[in-house]
Amino acid sequence: ESTTLSRIGLAGLAVMGQNLALNIAEKGFPISVYNRTISKVDETLDRAHTEGQLPVTGHYTPRDFVLSIQRPRSVIILVKAGAPVDQTIAALTAHMEPGDTIIDGGNEWYENTERRIVEANNKGLLYLGMGVSGGEEGARNGPSLMPGGSYQAYDNIKDIVAKVAAQVEDGPCVTYIGEGGSGNFVKMVHNGIEYGDMQLISEAYDVLKNVGGLSNSELAEIFDEWNRGELESFLIEITADIFKVKDEHGEGELVDKILDKTGMKGTGKWTVQQAAELSVAAPTIAASLDCRYLSGLKDERVAAATALAAAGLKDEVRSVVNGIDKKRLIDDVRQALYASKICSYAQGMNLRARLPANLVQAQRDLFGAHTYERVDHTGAFHTEWTKLA
Ligand code: NAP
Repeated sequence: ESTTLSRIGLAGLAVMGQNLALNIAEKGFPISVYNRTISKVDETLDRAHTEGQLPVTGHYTPRDFVLSIQRPRSVIILVKAGAPVDQTIAALTAHMEPGDTIIDGGNEWYENTERRIVEANNKGLLYLGMGVSGGEEGARNGPSLMPGGSYQAYDNIKDIVAKVAAQVEDGPCVTYIGEGGSGNFVKMVHNGIEYGDMQLISEAYDVLKNVGGLSNSELAEIFDEWNRGELESFLIEITADIFKVKDEHGEGELVDKILDKTGMKGTGKWTVQQAAELSVAAPTIAASLDCRYLSGLKDERVAAATALAAAGLKDEVRSVVNGIDKKRLIDDVRQALYASKICSYAQGMNLRARLPANLVQAQRDLFGAHTYERVDHTGAFHTEWTKLA
C-alpha cells in the first residue's frame, strides 16, 4: 500500500459511485474508494486496472478510507438517498477533522441536506449537496454537476469538478448553485423536467405508432432525423437507439416486450409537491407524474381494452389510420413535441427564475391600488401610475 495520500475520496460504489470515481481518477486526481459491501471495492479496483491503470486506492474500513485522503479532506458519498446517507455520514465523520468536507452526490431531498449542513457545521465540517446528472454513462465520461452548500467546500474541489464534468462549448457543465440545499433543489427540478420530456416523447411515439402505423425501424429513422434538428437532445438520441434493439429472447424489437408500467424514485413527485407549495403551475410535469401512476393500473387497462374492443372502437381507430397523411402527421407530431418541451422547460424554470408577474403586479396596482413589493427594498409600495405615464 502506497503512503501517498489521495486528493479526494468517494464512498458508495454502486453504478454512479464506481463510474464517477473512475472518471475522477482518469482526469489525473488520485482517489480513495470505499463501500459498505467490500466486494464492490475490489470490483472498482479491477475496473481501474483494466480501464487504464487509473490512480484508485481501495479501502475496507471507514477509518482507513478517511485517513488515506489529504487534508482538508473532500469525501463524495453516492449511496441511496435518505437514511443510508445519514448512516454513511456517521461512519465517516467519526474519523474526519474540522475543515474537511462531505459531498452528497445523490438525489437527496433538499431539506435533508439543509439539516445535514447544520449537523456538519456543529462538528466544524463543511458540506455540499451536489446533484449529479447523466446516469451511468455521464458519471463515467462527463456528468452535469450541481453543487450547492458551502462555497469554501466548492472552492476546494473546483479544479476537480471542472475537469470531471461534461465539457460543452461554453465550458464545463458545473457551477456553484448557491447556499443550503440549492444544488439538490436544482437537480430535483431538472429531474422533474426530464419526467415531462420523457412522457412527451412517449406520447409522440404513441401517436406515430398507433395513429400513423409506423414500424420500429421507421420510428428509429424519424427520431434520428429529429435529433439532427431543433429537437436534438440526449433523450431523442437514445430513443432512436432503443427502437433498433432486437429482442434477444424472441422475435422483433425489445421495446415491444417491455411491460408498460413505469418505475420512479421520487424526484418527480418532489418537484410537483414543491410546485404546489410555491403556487407555481407545472401542468406538464404534474401530468407526467400522473401518467406514471396511471401506468401502474395495468390490470384495469387490460380489462377496459377487452370491453372497448367488444364495443367496436378498434375498427373506428383503424379507419382513421387508413385515411392519414403520414408525412404530415410526422411533422405535426414533431412540432407538437417541440412546443410541449418548451412549455415543460418553462414550468421547471418558473420554480426558480424571475416571472413576468412583475407586470401583473403593476397592472393590479394601477387599477386597484393593490400595492406591490420591490426586488430591492422591503415593504409594500403603491404608485400613481397614470400621473407618471
Ligand atoms: P443506489 O442503488 O441508489 O444505492 C446503492 C449504494 O448505496 C450502494 O453503494 C450501497 O452499499 C449503498 N447503501 C445502501 N444502503 C446503505 C446503508 N444503509 N449504509 C451504507 N451504504 C448503503 O446507487 P446508484 O444508482 O449508484 O445511485 C446513487 C445515488 O445517485 C442515488 O441517490 C441516486 O438517486 C443518484 N443518482 C442515480 C442515477 C442513476 O442513473 N442510477 C443518476 C443520477 C443520480 P452496499 O453495496 O453495501 O449495499
